Amino acid sequence: MRFLGKTAFVTGATRGIGKATAKLLLQNDIKVIIGYAHSDKLAEEIVKNASENGKQATAAKIDLSDTASIEKSLKELIDKVGTIDYLVNNAGIAEDGLLLVSSSDKIIRTINTNLVASMTVTKFVLKGMIKKRFGSIVNMSSIVGEDGNAGQTAYAASKAGIIGFTKALAKEVASRNIRVNAIAPGFIQTDMTGVLSENDKNKIANRIPLNRLGKPEDVANLALFLLSEEANYITGDTIRIDGGLHL
Ligand code: NAP
Repeated sequence: MRFLGKTAFVTGATRGIGKATAKLLLQNDIKVIIGYAHSDKLAEEIVKNASENGKQATAAKIDLSDTASIEKSLKELIDKVGTIDYLVNNAGIAEDGLLLVSSSDKIIRTINTNLVASMTVTKFVLKGMIKKRFGSIVNMSSIVGEDGNAGQTAYAASKAGIIGFTKALAKEVASRNIRVNAIAPGFIQTDMTGVLSENDKNKIANRIPLNRLGKPEDVANLALFLLSEEANYITGDTIRIDGGLHL
């Protein structure tokens, strides 16, 4: 009941880490806005399922790669739902390829969707948080943003950008009782890593001390903790969740 009356906006909540996070927040009686771009059916299902379980979810179809329309859509969303207490900037894309063969379009799309859109969404949500003197924001980075990865220069740059954004914003809004943190997942079993062959996944698991890829729920648990009052002395931080891969 400790979250009763609170509203969260989770971007990319129709699949993978975002879906698991939205589900956990709903279980904790948080009203959740389900951000997505393409998966109408999945969004509908989540909203229906929430309502059948006495929880409140609203779908918000906003294509975060569409820089021309995003501000208008976000304004309409905030006008509709009011103040948002918790924001999880989770939506992201990974379009791999060596830099030498990466088109400018692909690089810009990755940076826009993963980094610029997270900053724009935050700008719109932040006003209400500042007024209320309450808020907690979690930005989804990646271990690749800290370590780099061949074939992922644009993705790594976007995720490193998320870490810088998190630190700077944490300093800007700490005095308003708003915390901002980032999560840097390692390899998590979602559609994003679904493109890897079983052989590659086994090789990766063998490099991970806990000997498995992470589950979306593992990351959701961390997101809920960082949003919650239990984490009220943590801000500007990036927490890795990678099964010990960094060791
Ligand atoms: P996923 O399974 O591919 O799901 C991506 C989610 O983002 C979907 O809900 C999708 O909505 C949404 N999305 C994609 N493009 C969008 C757009 N243009 N506008 C709005 N929403 C959009 O991804 P995931 O693996 O859960 O990853 C979630 C986050 O964690 C990402 O930021 C990713 O970079 C990060 N991460 C993942 C891993 C991993 O191993 N999986 C590791 C480190 C970091 P639709 O269903 O409508 O397309």
